[in-house]
Amino acid sequence: MSNKPANNIQDLQYFGEFGGVNPSISDSATYTFLHAKTMLDTFEGHAEGCYLYSRHTSPSNLYLSEALAAMEFTETANVAASGMGAITSVFLQVCGAGDHIVSSRTIYGGSYAFLKNFAPKLNITTSFVDITSLESVEKSIKPSTKMIYCEAISNPLLEIANIAELSKIAKKHNILLVVDNTFSPLLISPQKLGADITIHSLTKFINGTNDTVGGVVCGSQAFIDSLRNVNDGAAMLLGPVMDSLRAASVLKNLRTLHIRMKKHSENALYLAESFEDDGLKVVYPGLESHPGHKLFKALYNKEYGFGGIMTIDVGSLAKANELMELMQNENLGYLAVSLGFYKTLFSASGSSTSSEIPAEEQLEMGLSDGIIRFSIGLDNDIERTYRAMRKCMVQVKVL
Ligand code: PLP
Repeated sequence: MSNKPANNIQDLQYFGEFGGVNPSISDSATYTFLHAKTMLDTFEGHAEGCYLYSRHTSPSNLYLSEALAAMEFTETANVAASGMGAITSVFLQVCGAGDHIVSSRTIYGGSYAFLKNFAPKLNITTSFVDITSLESVEKSIKPSTKMIYCEAISNPLLEIANIAELSKIAKKHNILLVVDNTFSPLLISPQKLGADITIHSLTKFINGTNDTVGGVVCGSQAFIDSLRNVNDGAAMLLGPVMDSLRAASVLKNLRTLHIRMKKHSENALYLAESFEDDGLKVVYPGLESHPGHKLFKALYNKEYGFGGIMTIDVGSLAKANELMELMQNENLGYLAVSLGFYKTLFSASGSSTSSEIPAEEQLEMGLSDGIIRFSIGLDNDIERTYRAMRKCMVQVKVL
């Protein structure tokens, strides 16, 4: 396997059943067996190459899983119907009643809400910590702790997790390090830095076309087998399965991810530097002013840049809303949640994708309500975009 995650995707060779250059799509929920004994073996997980039922897995889902595992340098992977389907199956596979999770406090609002409001119903508790403070991470670990959970680049504050050091802490305490790499596919390879499990919402950069939700868990063969186990596997029993037709279409989009990530990063760096020079409060891992800039440079796969997400704090929610509406009217992007699209997307995180986090906690973690999260698009002429965005900012008196 090469050192470059995009090469690993490119090097996979699949032929369709009829010699097609894309794998044939498996359009079946169930599969026949020539011999009854093979069916029994498959139930018990011993029949390599046989398929049982598409909630367990399907050929199309395995093709996509294999490509994502190659990208993340893991033994294997399991795709899911959404990022949340992937994340919650991992939590529930690893933890049972009485167990504890140490989580970054700046994570996607849905993941936060699950840990804060839903998991306690199953007597699974979470300590939310500042993930950039290795000391507070270690201090929060208890005998019942089963995992450290974080995002490689956090949503929406863009804090950088020191995966290499977090992994040392996890290993010392014999617990798992689970990383959501949704913001930084190809840029960061968590497994190479010591993570045990890498998760993505495929909905974002990886699929890149905003036509579906999807997720994946990348990890060891043993862990993925446990997720799919017919007796006690969270993926198998909760059933957040991706449809085969979707898996085939996500795989086709995955193949251009490296080109898209480079362009997202190039455009975001240009805008971040330009708006910072203009005096705006910009947060972007590619800026020297970012507290995690040096760390990011020590961890990242340089050729893909610093990613497509940046934030600008325009001071108040009212200003943020005014600016976003104007930018949408000027066709500079869409006022929409999510990320990783060809068009720029913007939303005020505090009142949208992080609204599950109570106001006082948002304040404590530095999430002010004037923060706009931008997912910078694939604009062909980013200097033109900058000039037009700047005009909007002057018009609403942010500049
Ligand atoms: N992880 C991160 C970092 C996200 O931003 C999101 C969605 O916004 C998710 C996970 C959840 O993914 P999905 O919406 O595909 O369930």
